[in-house]
Amino acid sequence: MTQLELDAVIEDHPEKVRAMSQAVMIQCAGSREKENPNCSRICCQAAVKNALRMKALNPEMDIFILYRDIRTYGFYEDYYREARNSGVQFIRFSLDNKPEVWVENDRISVFAEDGILGRRIQFEPDCLALSTGMKADDETTEDLAMMFHLPRTGDHFFLEDHVKLRPVDMSVRGIFIAGTARSPKTIPESITEAHAAACRAQVLLAKKEINLGAAVAKVDGTKCAACLICVRACPFSIPFINEDGYSQIDPAKCRGCGVCAAECPAKAIQLLAYEDDQIMAKVDGLFGGLN
Ligand SMILES: Cc1cc2nc3c(=O)[nH]c(=O)nc-3n(C[C@H](O)[C@H](O)[C@H](O)COP(=O)(O)OP(=O)(O)OC[C@H]3O[C@@H](n4cnc5c(N)ncnc54)[C@H](O)[C@@H]3O)c2cc1C
Ligand code: SF4
Ligand code: SF4
Ligand code: SF4
Repeated sequence: MTQLELDAVIEDHPEKVRAMSQAVMIQCAGSREKENPNCSRICCQAAVKNALRMKALNPEMDIFILYRDIRTYGFYEDYYREARNSGVQFIRFSLDNKPEVWVENDRISVFAEDGILGRRIQFEPDCLALSTGMKADDETTEDLAMMFHLPRTGDHFFLEDHVKLRPVDMSVRGIFIAGTARSPKTIPESITEAHAAACRAQVLLAKKEINLGAAVAKVDGTKCAACLICVRACPFSIPFINEDGYSQIDPAKCRGCGVCAAECPAKAIQLLAYEDDQIMAKVDGLFGGLN
């Protein structure tokens, strides 16, 4: 079973825990490997939490946590110490020497190499809990990312605009992010982010007017050949061909990245504040005296 399923057994069927004599937990199941190189951050403390709850229900039972590294960061370290003091055994394994699990006639056997004893040991637990990691659902996040033009990380979580300066803002204005949509995290961390995201949204909603940046793209309809290049090039899908047959850009939505202005073959788009003649005047000012 997973830690989540064990959580439900402890909560709903404490009598089953009281009847157990041994439990084994295997950490990093499906995490920190080639297919999913991330640490899920929550599964070490989830294992320690469940081990402590089981010990509280059945102090006599043996609990073994097979781990690669224990990452009970911050104050969760206190629970790790408490687990050790209450008799939970922590046994380290390496990626190239992972524990093996066998099931025969409904009996589970777990084999692991104990680095301190230097011996292979066998467990026959009543309960085996795998600490499976958290992965982003590629399909779900892709749908949302396509719909709202949101950037994602390489492992399919949503990517904030700036990890320190704008940690709950997305690069698309008016969209904020909190919790495990961004990366694996605990409930208190998710709640803190949710408060921050709500505050950021309130800043926008409290204003009667919103000031837009000066650098937005503007189309000269008389030059536009409706070739659709800007429509396809804009990373935020803002230009469209209007009913008069030329490209139109809503200045309230434009992010001022300048991609469309650089791509337009008819030079029909200017990025205000960075117009061609302004840039050429600056170039002349800089290099005009050099002949
Ligand atoms: C085994 C395990 C044990 C844990 N133990 C602890 C613990 O002891 N303490 C702790 O602090 N944290 C723990 N955590 C972490 C905790 O679960 C998360 O921090 C928390 O759930 C994050 O909240 P969230 O609202 O960001 O995401 P979630 O709780 O995952 O909520 C997201 C919601 O969005 C819904 N959703 C997803 N996609 C869509 C969509 N496209 N449209 C509509 N709805 C959608 C989902 O169904 C879900 O209901 C544990 C996690 C695991 C896996
Ligand atoms: S939190 Fe612990 S069990 Fe989970 S991936 Fe990180 S090291 Fe492995
Ligand atoms: S790229 Fe230029 S010419 Fe083509 S549709 Fe856009 S504005 Fe018009
Ligand atoms: S300046 Fe950037 S965001 Fe604005 S319309 Fe052009 S490509 Fe899109």
